[in-house]
Amino acid sequence: MLEHAFRHAEAFLASLPDRPVGPPVDPDALRAALGRELPDEGVPAEQVIDDLVAGADPGIVASAGPRYFGFVTGGALPAALAADWLASAWDQNAHMWVGSPAAAVVEEVVEEWVLSLLGLPASASVGLVTGAQMANVTCLAVARDAVLKRAGWDAAGQGLIGAPPITVIAGQEAHATVFSALRMIGLGRDAAHLVATDDQGAMDPDALARALKDAGPAIVCAQAGNVNTGAFDPLEPIEYLCEQSGAWLHVDGAFGLWAAASPRYAHLTRGLERADSWATDAHKWLNVPYDGGLAIVKDRAAHRAALRLSAAYLVAGEQRDNYDYTPEASRRARGFTVYAALRSLGRTGVAELVERNCAQATRFAERLRAGGAEVLNDVVLNQVLVAAPPSAVARIQADGTCWVGGTVWGGREAIRISTSNWATTDEDVDRSARAILTAITSP
Ligand SMILES: *Cc1c(COP(=O)(O)O)cnc(C)c1O
Repeated sequence: MLEHAFRHAEAFLASLPDRPVGPPVDPDALRAALGRELPDEGVPAEQVIDDLVAGADPGIVASAGPRYFGFVTGGALPAALAADWLASAWDQNAHMWVGSPAAAVVEEVVEEWVLSLLGLPASASVGLVTGAQMANVTCLAVARDAVLKRAGWDAAGQGLIGAPPITVIAGQEAHATVFSALRMIGLGRDAAHLVATDDQGAMDPDALARALKDAGPAIVCAQAGNVNTGAFDPLEPIEYLCEQSGAWLHVDGAFGLWAAASPRYAHLTRGLERADSWATDAHKWLNVPYDGGLAIVKDRAAHRAALRLSAAYLVAGEQRDNYDYTPEASRRARGFTVYAALRSLGRTGVAELVERNCAQATRFAERLRAGGAEVLNDVVLNQVLVAAPPSAVARIQADGTCWVGGTVWGGREAIRISTSNWATTDEDVDRSARAILTAITSP
């Protein structure tokens, strides 16, 4: 069966550079092909897989390919993809040491490598979660408990009813998942105090200083890498203000945190290492297959106090139990893919990946400007915003040369381009820029 699946996978991967990136799909045809009645009798495995491939193919987006520029989407590095297959074959339960000593040690190693690569405190702890959304949930749950503990309240034990109020502060351009996280951890989606940002979406430290005045127990959610512009909140002054007021500083750096791995772009993250918690993704810029987020907390004891699982039959040992750092108990051994990606790239490879994709964003902006398009942001990282109506976005998507999504920035309708795939070449950028210009300039 694995050889059978391998042949399908090989054919798909070979088709990636040429297949239409986001083909128009007929939802009814897709449902008709995939949504047959659940059979009474089982179907042979080979036929299940053949039918799945045939039925799914029209609805498969070539987001792993080199010309998909939507939503900050990474591809899958060969070593990471192969490790992902092994993770399924091994079928390890990564919840605790006895479930898989190998998964525990690999996550320990990933923790050490990630902290070192991103220049974060070596004593910090890392939980491997599904993505940056859950990394935000995890980190902010730790922040909530830690901030309330300092105010004399045991939130882990008693919950939030009757607890002293917490002030939550975020930039006006904070990512939507920060607000979902606040909703899920009981602090409320709409409770955050939003501080002003500049025209690139970066937080204004003076506005933060005003918001922190007499704030009481507080959590500040800063951002490293705005999902539209790529802009970074000025972490150095923000960190200083948080330290002065005793606020917990959380940084959402789903993709932008990886800039810290590049000597050329690390200046954007200055002050990063003095935050209290960090959320990032492996499945975006690190090009690990999906199901890869990292929740990083400076204070390991606070991390464990907020998330540790305890039950009579789960006897904690000397070794790492992964469930002490994530909201889940039983789960996939997702550390193998991150380990494989980091080891196959090395420090230099991660820096080169970041720098190559950033240079491609600049190249995109130059090609598009030269063709008469209007670039709306300062291209500081891997994000490019181009003025265009939704009809142009639809034409680009239907054309299939590349895939980009639409957004609104500063009241202007725009195309959002993210370069974050290891396989993208300069030729892919040029070809895509031509397709985008054609769609923008056609009547
Ligand atoms: C993508 C993104 C997230 C959410 O990450 P998921 O991997 O989709 O869970 C959060 N914050 C920022 C800034 C992002 O770009």
